[in-house]
Amino acid sequence: MALLVVTIVGALLFGVLNLQRGVYALAGVELAMGAVALALMFVVRQTPHLTRWTLAYLLPFFSALLFALATPRASPTVFVWVLLIPMISHLLLGRWLGLAMAGAFLFGAGAIYFGRFGDNPELVNTIGVANVAMSSAVILALSHVAEYTRERSERRLAEQASTDALTGLANRSHLKTVFQRELDRAERQPVPLSLILMDLDHFKRVNDRHGHEAGDAALVHVAALLRQRLRATDVACRQGGEEFAILLVDSDIDAAAGVAEALRASLGARPVRLGAAEIPLTASFGVAQLGADGHDLDRLLSAADERLFAAKARGRNCVVRQTARADSAAGTPEPTSTDGALA
Ligand code: GH3
Ligand code: MG
Ligand code: MG
Repeated sequence: MALLVVTIVGALLFGVLNLQRGVYALAGVELAMGAVALALMFVVRQTPHLTRWTLAYLLPFFSALLFALATPRASPTVFVWVLLIPMISHLLLGRWLGLAMAGAFLFGAGAIYFGRFGDNPELVNTIGVANVAMSSAVILALSHVAEYTRERSERRLAEQASTDALTGLANRSHLKTVFQRELDRAERQPVPLSLILMDLDHFKRVNDRHGHEAGDAALVHVAALLRQRLRATDVACRQGGEEFAILLVDSDIDAAAGVAEALRASLGARPVRLGAAEIPLTASFGVAQLGADGHDLDRLLSAADERLFAAKARGRNCVVRQTARADSAAGTPEPTSTDGALA
């Protein structure tokens, strides 16, 4: 927006100056560019196609600049504007499209410079050409690197905002985003969607007996196990504390209960190793399916949570997929004693 305002002011200023100097063609191009910028001010606020409109602005803007460079009566100082091309292109179009645009127009500007002043030894000599070429190259490279750094920081921030810092799994807010995406997809192309809630059993005792750091290591261990056992399309999320939610795309409740049972078994079979110590872990699971148990994430979580609670009541270390019937635990629950999570 700021750039459009500058364009309008600049176009008016140079348009009027060139009209006074009698350089009518250039003045016309400049004033037309100002009109384009004015029109774009109304479009860019609301368009969903910002890149297209940015191109619709930059192509005529840079072309007008090249036209000014090529106009015989225009001042050679107009070349100063060329140095803005790499910065503006990268800022508005990103790293690669910006580079392509800047490269093309710098090349064009160079060709016009030699075309106009090729026979003027004052302006075209080894030192002069080296100065212009090097300063353009430096500005192009700096703009490109600055845009690369900006894009990387933006990516990192987005990653951090959707990731749990301790385990590297998705966080609650990312689960919401993915769930919404899958919900939209399921409306177009119905596929079953299920959710597992998993809560480590007697985890407070792990902390109490082995220390908070060991507790953290255990959570990292569980996250690694989830990553290893789940499909790439499943989303494992740390809901908070020692509770995890797993969204299973294209899985009905039978499949989800099967996955939960497999996770329960492998967690039981792989204690956390910390130096010489081995910390056995177990977890309880509640499973729910989109549709039968609710049509949004909150209802699905609450159905799964109810079943998780039932699994805890049933003695922990088991999977519950239905709370209505008393005999509906999936797999072979092996209820632990109240002390069972710790050897
Ligand atoms: P239950 O089987 O009923 O789930 O018992 P529990 O001890 O696992 O449940 P409770 O909710 O009483 O305790 C959860 C414990 O998890 C409390 C806290 O010490 C521990 N915890 C939560 N977040 C973290 C964490 O980020 N790191 C560590 N080390 N411990 C955590
Ligand atoms: Mg727990
Ligand atoms: Mg808990």
